[in-house]
Amino acid sequence: MKIDAFTQLYGIIGHPVKHSLSPLIQNLAFTHLGINAVYLAFDVTDLPSALAGVRALGIKGLSVTIPHKINIIPFLDNIDEMAQKIGAVNTVVNQDGHLLGFNTDWTGAILALKEKGEIKGKRYVILGAGGAARAVAFGLKQEGAEVTIVNRTYEKGKALAKELNAEASPWDNLPEIKAYGLINTTPIGMWPEIRHTPVDEKVVTNFALVMDTIYRPLETKLLHLAKKAGCICVNGLNMLIYQGAAQFTLWTGKKAPVEKMLKAAEGVLVNNG
Ligand code: NAP
Repeated sequence: MKIDAFTQLYGIIGHPVKHSLSPLIQNLAFTHLGINAVYLAFDVTDLPSALAGVRALGIKGLSVTIPHKINIIPFLDNIDEMAQKIGAVNTVVNQDGHLLGFNTDWTGAILALKEKGEIKGKRYVILGAGGAARAVAFGLKQEGAEVTIVNRTYEKGKALAKELNAEASPWDNLPEIKAYGLINTTPIGMWPEIRHTPVDEKVVTNFALVMDTIYRPLETKLLHLAKKAGCICVNGLNMLIYQGAAQFTLWTGKKAPVEKMLKAAEGVLVNNG
């Protein structure tokens, strides 16, 4: 890769950030398309100073991850409509000094689901009511699905369901709920707790499609049970790659090499967990 006085800088801000797959996939995309740019990981705790630096140095774009997705909003010049609804920004575009905020988590989830299953007119049960749940739920509603939110803290699930004009159900009622899709947005089953699953094999059979937003491991216990039950399975890596591809397009106006990005990330996850 040639770095010279014209090289443009992009990056991810978060804390922690060293585990991120984004530098790998975004640099691969820049190189593949011959774009003179680099993408770095910045471990940021002082968000206002970091954003002043972005403006001052002319950093062209950012991915934003935990814990800054919500706190960044007041520092930006414009927020797109879906990011406003979701209440979180995961992408910043620096347009001639104006910082524009977007959310591509919902795009990533919807593209991953569309690849394998159906959305319009189908009911999805979403486990969780945090940031990932909000992105997935607003995306599903936008695409014409029905949504039921099932969250450990029922009141929080009810509040999200109200915003969405959707249903909420207490966690204990899960065995009685039947729907087209089940999406786990809780961290249950994430490495190193890989023997855990949010629902058992009996509950899994109430759904035709099961998606886990977790991508470490690639096949969570939930997806293992879903595969055994013959469900359509969608893992969290596709969501991650598609949200990254959507970021790349927002920054460059170009289509990202999705297959190559997916293969590279899979290689890292298979080898290092
Ligand atoms: P978050 O905002 O902290 O929300 C976590 C949600 O999970 C909350 O609703 C919480 O319920 C629930 N929860 C946590 N521990 C639980 C437990 N032991 N039992 C039942 N419910 C539990 O986190 P987030 O940002 O939404 O991230 C959640 C997951 O999404 C992470 O595992 C991450 O891997 C995944 N994710 C994936 C992608 C991707 O591209 N694939 C993108 C974003 C996030 P309470 O309300 O009761 O606390």
